[in-house]
Amino acid sequence: MSPRETVICIGCPLGCRVTAVTDRKGTVTALKGAECKQGQKHVLEELRNPVRTLTATVRTGDESFPLLPVRTSRPVLKVMLRPIMRETAKVKVKPPVKAGDIVIANVLKTGADLVATADWPAPGEGV
Ligand code: SF4
Repeated sequence: MSPRETVICIGCPLGCRVTAVTDRKGTVTALKGAECKQGQKHVLEELRNPVRTLTATVRTGDESFPLLPVRTSRPVLKVMLRPIMRETAKVKVKPPVKAGDIVIANVLKTGADLVATADWPAPGEGV
């Protein structure tokens, strides 16, 4: 981490720009710009251990519905996003799929499942 790093807090829609000042060992010595304690906590976590919920699509092999939207069931370490994307590229799902169905369980041992976020076929449509 550089001596000063600025991140945008995503704890609420205000989106404060928070600057973290660190010492030589990388320990955060000051946070400037956060409007609340919750934001400070969120920014510290973001600097130490950034996580994100991944949203993506997987292939179906069906020309009329080629891609099924998916997401991770919980946030995963940011460094795992690219490896998980590579896993999604290997997947080809078959119908029927319901929103919430697990497409990949415990993807890359992150503790998160890759789950469908849409029905396929859509309600009212046949297989
Ligand atoms: S620091 Fe607090 S007020 Fe500012 S964006 Fe984060 S949560 Fe919202």
